[in-house]
Amino acid sequence: MKAFVKTLSAVAMSVAMSCAWAAPKMSADVVVIGSGGAGMTASVAAAENGAKVIVLEKNAFTGGGAAFAEGIFAVESRLQRDAADAGTREESFKKDMERSFWTADPIRVRDFIWGSAENVDWLMKHGVPVFFRKESVIKEPTWHVFGHYKNTEHGAALIQCMQDNAERLGVKFYLNTPAVGLIKDSNGAVVGVKAKSQKDGEFEIAAKKVIIATGGFGDSAEKVKNWGHRDFKVWRPSVPLNKTGDGIQMAYDVGAQHGEYGFVSHVGTPASHVKFAGNLYTASWQPSALWVNSDGIRFADEGIALSFGLAGDAVYQQFGSEAWSIFDATQVKYMMEQGADSGIGVIVAPGTKLPNLQKEIDEALAKGSDGFVKASSVAELAKKIGVPEKALQKSVEDYNKACDFGADPMFFKTPRYLRKIDTKNMYAIKLNSYFFCTFGGLKTNLKHEVLDTHNKPIPNLYATGADVSGFTSVFYNPYASGHLFGYAVYSGRHAGENAAHALGLKK
Ligand SMILES: Cc1cc2nc3c(=O)[nH]c(=O)nc-3n(C[C@H](O)[C@H](O)[C@H](O)COP(=O)(O)OP(=O)(O)OC[C@H]3O[C@@H](n4cnc5c(N)ncnc54)[C@H](O)[C@@H]3O)c2cc1C
Repeated sequence: MKAFVKTLSAVAMSVAMSCAWAAPKMSADVVVIGSGGAGMTASVAAAENGAKVIVLEKNAFTGGGAAFAEGIFAVESRLQRDAADAGTREESFKKDMERSFWTADPIRVRDFIWGSAENVDWLMKHGVPVFFRKESVIKEPTWHVFGHYKNTEHGAALIQCMQDNAERLGVKFYLNTPAVGLIKDSNGAVVGVKAKSQKDGEFEIAAKKVIIATGGFGDSAEKVKNWGHRDFKVWRPSVPLNKTGDGIQMAYDVGAQHGEYGFVSHVGTPASHVKFAGNLYTASWQPSALWVNSDGIRFADEGIALSFGLAGDAVYQQFGSEAWSIFDATQVKYMMEQGADSGIGVIVAPGTKLPNLQKEIDEALAKGSDGFVKASSVAELAKKIGVPEKALQKSVEDYNKACDFGADPMFFKTPRYLRKIDTKNMYAIKLNSYFFCTFGGLKTNLKHEVLDTHNKPIPNLYATGADVSGFTSVFYNPYASGHLFGYAVYSGRHAGENAAHALGLKK
């Protein structure tokens, strides 16, 4: 996972750095807190509607999680019309609500889905290169990903392009300058932001409108426990970005209502000497493998590997939030010659051949990977991965019988992925569960204004992106790609527009 972070960091760090100065006694029409997917789009939308905008960013670089992300959700977009199974907004709405057991906010979900295609048009109009791509055979074709922009791609391309737009419109970015609190007047209206910089210490910015876009709380062990009810020891962000729920807490401190919280989980291997998105990494979570937990027991239909979120959640439920993925030499040959059944986001497309797989396997074994082993018997494998031999023996035997029979009586895996394990030529790679980011915390109305404990808007305060609850339930939709990034762009740009319009600045 370290390699994952390193690779992605290289992409994100290519997002241009802006000036890092700060001066006390500043003022703006709109202060945006955070420069990720929601903050960037909010700043552009507010500025192009005539607002003087300041963006505060805690990190030394812009982009947040969005710079590492890949695509946004949209349905009935112009780009998607060719997809045979594209579906309609109505179908999408029904599925979203059913999958959330109607715990998502139906009015918000409808608003987001109906606006999602326009989101794509808006980004393209602003120069973001958007393409349609189906992520996986079990996912609906809702993914709209980003091509190259300057020296960046994926989410970083959107961020860089938006930043160029924002700077052209006169938006000022202050890096290494976290917001630390909101300022309220005696009527309870938000009238400014307290910020902190190394040069000036704590200082205040007077603001007519404030937009919170701080990207969730995934890097705070305390909030993951208290708000997300999960244990940071076994449940960590795969890309730590110093997002500690600041905006959510600031809003609570001025009387905001608590919303529900959720995580975007995914599966991955922590094994050393396995390069992120390399051939062996890709091979680590394929639907044709046999997965066992630390008791040596099969626990899932491995076909869920086709949706990283489902796989992440299933592995999370196992003791220690870990499992082993077992495959054999025949499957290695298949992946090298026929290609992988499951891809990795936009980085490895499904069907990609893995020609270096054997080489990477040999290298990882030679270097003594701590999470990847080879074995020529079940007994040897059980010993190497530290699971009870008898249980593993039974799991392999039952699984192989199911493969012979062509039907999986245990978890009903699609027969095309039932491939018998040759016990004389086995490999096993460790799987862990991680999360990309959190979502939820604040409740907002359809104008993206933050609601207080009486369900009334806190004057002048907006919240967007991952800091908001209700666009999905606590169960992130694993069947339709791009909900969170899509919602960040959607809520960000509309909050920016609304803030400017509320100031009578409409252009
Ligand atoms: C590897 C990876 C891949 C992903 N792929 C996808 C995908 O394909 N599709 C999808 O829908 N989602 C994806 N996500 C999730 C995606 O990152 C989020 O959907 C999106 O970034 C949310 O946007 P946001 O603006 O709310 O938060 P972010 O983009 O994370 O931005 C928040 C910003 O606020 C800043 N900040 C925090 N606190 C403060 C403070 N006190 N003061 C000032 N600034 C502050 C942060 O530093 C950060 O820059 C992925 C995430 C990761 C990590």
